[in-house]
Amino acid sequence: MKAVRFIVAAILQALPYILQLAMCQQWEAALKKIECPCGSAKELSDCCGVWHAGLALGVYAPTPEALMRSRYSAYVLGLIDYLMATWHPSSTPGDLELQPVKWLGLEVRHAAAAGDAGVVEFVARCRLNGRAERMHETSRFAREGGRWYYIDGQFTEPD
Ligand SMILES: [Zn+2]
Repeated sequence: MKAVRFIVAAILQALPYILQLAMCQQWEAALKKIECPCGSAKELSDCCGVWHAGLALGVYAPTPEALMRSRYSAYVLGLIDYLMATWHPSSTPGDLELQPVKWLGLEVRHAAAAGDAGVVEFVARCRLNGRAERMHETSRFAREGGRWYYIDGQFTEPD
């Protein structure tokens, strides 16, 4: 009898944690269903989310295109720390303030890497102050210490 009472007490004590765990798993499951903003048609947790979460663990986007996509997703999700950490130290802005932009989609037109240099040409669509805009940019990337960094980008005039 004593043993039963002990077990019941133990279960009751653990109940909040069990509930919390269940809620966490539900939350995780909900997160997994978010489609990645970069337009890959994959789930965020199987796409750019890997690199967002990996940064703290030393897991980095393996190609300029993967980095570019994860940076676009970081803009959409407001992950300023990720943007700053993936900017090459030579061109990192001192302070980054995200504009009130509604990002609508990304299209990667061309991506190439040769050695430790890479370029990605893309078109990002957004809405700024109620106006639809297209950002056509060719970005430059460099690899240092096995990690790709964004250096800068050159805008292409609207086509
Ligand atoms: Zn993605």
